[in-house]
Amino acid sequence: MSRVKPSVELLAYTPHPEQTVAVAAKLCYSDSTISQLAEGIADRDISKFIAKLVELGHLSPIEHASFTFGVEGVSRSLLAQITRHRIASFSVKSQRYVSANKGEVFNYIIPPAIEELGADSVAKFESQMATMQEWYNEWQSELGGASEKSNEDARFVLPNASETKMVITMNARELMHYFELRCCNRAQWEIRAISWEMLRLVREVAPTLFANCGPACIAGKCSEGKMSCKKMSEIKERHENMMTEESML
Ligand SMILES: Cc1cc2nc3c(=O)[nH]c(=O)nc-3n(C[C@H](O)[C@H](O)[C@H](O)COP(=O)(O)OP(=O)(O)OC[C@H]3O[C@@H](n4cnc5c(N)ncnc54)[C@H](O)[C@@H]3O)c2cc1C
Repeated sequence: MSRVKPSVELLAYTPHPEQTVAVAAKLCYSDSTISQLAEGIADRDISKFIAKLVELGHLSPIEHASFTFGVEGVSRSLLAQITRHRIASFSVKSQRYVSANKGEVFNYIIPPAIEELGADSVAKFESQMATMQEWYNEWQSELGGASEKSNEDARFVLPNASETKMVITMNARELMHYFELRCCNRAQWEIRAISWEMLRLVREVAPTLFANCGPACIAGKCSEGKMSCKKMSEIKERHENMMTEESML
């Protein structure tokens, strides 16, 4: 293995996420017991209620629905960005416990802009990765061979392009915020790509909660000011059609 592509899977989520949010929200305004509320909600169409909740910005009930993703084939560069989101939980493949020389060359991501430069550029990139693999192997061996102790220092010569894998859990409120920042055209291409796929996956299971989620321009106005990509209509069209796609990746 060497060059890899991203994949995102929705591993698990709160059962009946929209009903759970609706029970939590209705509880705030009702004298009924929680089981009465849950029974009442189970039989009703709650989409208008959920949409109103989001519109009013009454967002704490939305925190009761959580979503867990498996993300693979992404770079350590993406890792540095996504882990800045503090209201999220992460488990990440370790570069100490897992040696980077299981295959001929460690797994890595090639940026699309480099691929677009053509076959010679891709070959140059691949050869650079192979050189780094040699550096890694040399240090690992000089430090005593494959082990947690040598891996932790040999990895210093690995690039941001190195592949990582992670399991991520976010609640719906954090996801909404995350989609606003990371589905925006101002976000870096790799995190933007997986974010659109994460949005598609949660819209499948909680369509009302996430109906208007995505970059700020989906809900109304671009928040980027002078930095705006000025592609609002293109983005809106992509958002409108995204649920007909099998994958956004
Ligand atoms: C296009 C783009 C470019 C970026 N460029 C850079 C860069 O050059 N350098 C850089 O360092 N970072 C950069 N970032 C990262 C950015 O600064 C944030 O760290 C990251 O997007 C996480 O956002 P957040 O803090 O709003 O979200 P989260 O950590 O997901 O938190 C969600 C919300 O919770 C609240 N919150 C969380 N923690 C606290 C707290 N401690 N105190 C008060 N409120 C809190 C805030 O309201 C926050 O918006 C960039 C991000 C984007 C999208």
